[in-house]
Amino acid sequence: MDFNDTPQEAEFRAEARAWIAANAPAHLHDALASSTFGGLNTGGEDPIEVSKDWQKKKAEAGWACLMWPTEYGGRGASPIENVIWNQEEGVYGKLSSMFIIGHGMCGPTMIAYASEEQKQRYLPKLASGEEVWCQLFSEPHGGSDLAGLRTRAEKDGDEWVINGQKIWTSGAQNSDYGILITRTDPNVAKHKGLTMFFLDMRSPGVDIRPIKQVNGQSGFNEVYFDDVRIPDAQRLGAVGDGWRVSLTTLMNERMAIGGSIPTGVPELLELVQSLAKDGGSAIEDPAVRSKLADWYAKSAGLRNTASRAISALSKGDIPGPENSIGKLVAGGLMQDVAKFGMDLQGFGSVLMDPKIAEGSARFQAMLLRSPAVRIEGGTDQILRNIIGERVLGLPDDMRADKGLPFNEIPSGN
Ligand SMILES: Cc1cc2nc3c(=O)[nH]c(=O)nc-3n(C[C@H](O)[C@H](O)[C@H](O)COP(=O)(O)OP(=O)(O)OC[C@H]3O[C@@H](n4cnc5c(N)ncnc54)[C@H](O)[C@@H]3O)c2cc1C
Repeated sequence: MDFNDTPQEAEFRAEARAWIAANAPAHLHDALASSTFGGLNTGGEDPIEVSKDWQKKKAEAGWACLMWPTEYGGRGASPIENVIWNQEEGVYGKLSSMFIIGHGMCGPTMIAYASEEQKQRYLPKLASGEEVWCQLFSEPHGGSDLAGLRTRAEKDGDEWVINGQKIWTSGAQNSDYGILITRTDPNVAKHKGLTMFFLDMRSPGVDIRPIKQVNGQSGFNEVYFDDVRIPDAQRLGAVGDGWRVSLTTLMNERMAIGGSIPTGVPELLELVQSLAKDGGSAIEDPAVRSKLADWYAKSAGLRNTASRAISALSKGDIPGPENSIGKLVAGGLMQDVAKFGMDLQGFGSVLMDPKIAEGSARFQAMLLRSPAVRIEGGTDQILRNIIGERVLGLPDDMRADKGLPFNEIPSGN
């Protein structure tokens, strides 16, 4: 396996590197580098404003949404060029976090299902960060069973009337548009009665309520729909074909999330080198060394698995299940590392202000963020089901509601 750049890839890398060196907001470099897990440090500047500025600059120079066609605001680049760009963008890539869902999931769904006129209208503004999008899929009764969703869409002339509730909608409070999956026919099997739309998040009847998280942030929201009207022209795919449309979104979600999950291992290595323990530094303790060696080996395995996916992309192949494996292993690893880092620091680990105690703030942020990694974009259990059934060919999980019309599936209410 050869992980070196081909001559064309090296040329692309040099071009990307030179543009970033000349244009990136260098004054934010150190703040961004010190951003804790799940948080964005922009040195006191408004994170939304600086993120939008960087995105706009990239779009104007053809470095936004690299794999999208140029006519929709992209660059027509190959997947491997996209990987190279991400490697070169480095810490400045953290400024893309508010666009991940729009660029990684909503955009590809619009490219696949919107009309040509809609693509011309919406995609360039999505690519340049001028308009932000969110993904309205999960509902209170359960997100893993997406096909069991209950938000209703009923046809009224040329419009659909939406009633129901979504939850865990990342970034809804800052979004201009969203893609929304609804139930249009409760009389057929649950996967068959779904329809996808996109909507203006400022439509009358949309009520967005941020959820306060354990880490103090409000990354996601509850979104209520009370007689919200969506034109039929904003339907994505055929009526009743929403499940197939959502698979386009979810496939892109795993690609967008799976490739780049931190593990906390480099941070732990740094901590144990500087932390005093039993008259020496923590790294001299055999128990610490043993854990570190295990986790280092696991994170090296993740890195090599990611390199294998990149190598497959470089040769024009489609990567296999690497992204599901990556998220499954990295999420649990980060949680173990965070707990251990906290334990090692004893009472010191309760300090959470990075200005007083950068190390402990970092491990607290990691600890509070890591459960989310094990849930978002498919829980550990769902990923294990996917790997078991689709990769290893094990028998399917029992699905008692298979084939039953949605309105005949037993439920608590
Ligand atoms: C940080 C974050 C951001 C998110 N952003 C968005 C967003 O922008 N838009 C959006 O729509 N959603 C979003 N979500 C929601 C996310 O998609 C759901 O949380 C996820 O799909 C799981 O759904 P749930 O939380 O309802 O848990 P459930 O589906 O209710 O699952 C509960 C538990 O049961 C287990 N379980 C469920 N089904 C099975 C099964 N068949 N076999 C074995 N075990 C099972 C699960 O693994 C889990 O442990 C976000 C979540 C997080 C954490």
